[in-house]
Amino acid sequence: MTALPQPPKVLVIGGGWAGLAAAITATQQGAQVSLWDMAPTLGGRAKSFNTPEGPNRDNGQHVLIGAYTECLRLLRLVGLAPEQVLLRTPLDLRFGSGEGLRLPDTQRGFGAAVLRGLAPWLPAQWPSQLPLAVGLWRSGQGPSQLAWRWQDRWGLMTTSRRWQSQAWQCPAHQSVANLCTGLPPRIVHDLIEPLCLSALNTPLHRASGAVFLRVLQEALMGPLGASDLLIPKVPLSALWPEAAQAWLRRHGAQVQSPRRAMALHFVDSAWQVSSTAGTDSFDHIILACPPQEAARLLPQGIHPTWLNQVRALRFEAIATVYVQVEGVPLGPHWLPRPLVALRTNDQAPAQFALDRGQLGGPAGELALVVSACPTMDRERLTQAVLAQAQQLLKAQGGARQGPHPAPRLRPLQTLVEKRATFACTPALQRPGMAIGPGLWACGDYVEGPFPATLEGAVRSGVAAAQQAHAARRTSSLGQDPLTQLSQV
Ligand SMILES: Cc1cc2nc3c(=O)[nH]c(=O)nc-3n(C[C@H](O)[C@H](O)[C@H](O)COP(=O)(O)OP(=O)(O)OC[C@H]3O[C@@H](n4cnc5c(N)ncnc54)[C@H](O)[C@@H]3O)c2cc1C
Repeated sequence: MTALPQPPKVLVIGGGWAGLAAAITATQQGAQVSLWDMAPTLGGRAKSFNTPEGPNRDNGQHVLIGAYTECLRLLRLVGLAPEQVLLRTPLDLRFGSGEGLRLPDTQRGFGAAVLRGLAPWLPAQWPSQLPLAVGLWRSGQGPSQLAWRWQDRWGLMTTSRRWQSQAWQCPAHQSVANLCTGLPPRIVHDLIEPLCLSALNTPLHRASGAVFLRVLQEALMGPLGASDLLIPKVPLSALWPEAAQAWLRRHGAQVQSPRRAMALHFVDSAWQVSSTAGTDSFDHIILACPPQEAARLLPQGIHPTWLNQVRALRFEAIATVYVQVEGVPLGPHWLPRPLVALRTNDQAPAQFALDRGQLGGPAGELALVVSACPTMDRERLTQAVLAQAQQLLKAQGGARQGPHPAPRLRPLQTLVEKRATFACTPALQRPGMAIGPGLWACGDYVEGPFPATLEGAVRSGVAAAQQAHAARRTSSLGQDPLTQLSQV
């Protein structure tokens, strides 16, 4: 009787969204998977923690969109129903006073049913362009000084036609600011800037035009619903990492946290990994930790180009200021919608306010998000954002009448993630996935079409596990990777 071949031993280092996606994919492919994370809880930058006040709070407010197809697939795979954990709303970037872009609902209602029914017979781009046209028409309604003028809307239409005729591509060196030449300033401030900051977390003049166009194409020209906002209704850890961890354990993977990988060595045709809990040996390693940590772990002499690309990455911060509103709201909630865009300037840095009370969180808790957060003293940042929240609530309440006094704001917590994402700059050469034989990298920074997002992280995790699987078939393990790499 011949012995069955042992399944390959795969170690995933890092249990953020990329590492979890890699571990799940490798497990599905029949590998014997271990996942280590140095933190006690999995989820990396997208997880929640307990607060002294009791409820869980996210380590930064996150928003997904309908085009995050891999995130949605993996949510379902581990047994979650997206509609139960995410609030789906049509793309709505209106400010507190109601002006701005709001696309119609393409999932529910009579209009959506008609559009979906007609979609197969319409010219290819129409189903995605019709909602945009309706959104543009609506943005011209409302108080005349706030509504977009017809010149603004015409400017946006002609520019988006131009981007479309370029197949949503542009030269790699162009910034988003370059792309906007000729667009009415109103459209740049009210639409392009918030979109760019929320998707690329990089200011317009430093943000990659090519990646921005790619995001627009995926969201606005994708299937119906691709541009919808999907806002978590549960703490981030419960949104996916906890269920992903449970799935891995159910399917025989070993999940260990906290366990920090300390160094990698290639010895006797296998990777030896030393860690805070001893040394183990694996056939394949998927590095799903942040880029500097991945670079630190690599054996000396391996893939200098990869290391240089990691060293060239620059980072942008994101701050989330959580505040509690005290008082009596005029309506059922403090904000008119779960997400409201904010006007920004040097003294008013937050771009969005989210009403956590409408998202399964405590009533009256707001999360204010500062993407591409400037370097600022934390206290000054909190005060600036509180002033914005106060302004927003004042505008909502108008001249409050009756027995209710004006609401008071109490700061709860200001979280500043200094290395929230890599700076998505023009012509950036991102590190690739393959580092050496049996050695792969994944994460939101790894080369790919997306900026640093949950979807980018998850897609790269899935792709790394698939590449590792494909390489096993033509495996050349047994040869020292340093020898192989010297031939690269
Ligand atoms: C405040 C904030 C807001 C954001 N908002 C959004 C948003 O609205 N929408 C969106 O799509 N994206 C958003 N992002 C980006 C998103 O969170 C990231 O793109 C994504 O979480 C990256 O996942 P990752 O797995 O690549 O990396 P990480 O989450 O950084 O995971 C890396 C993991 O590696 C572990 N690790 C490190 N070193 C070791 C070691 N030596 N051994 C073992 N483990 C190790 C770490 O503990 C960590 O768990 C936001 C990010 C932040 C910070």
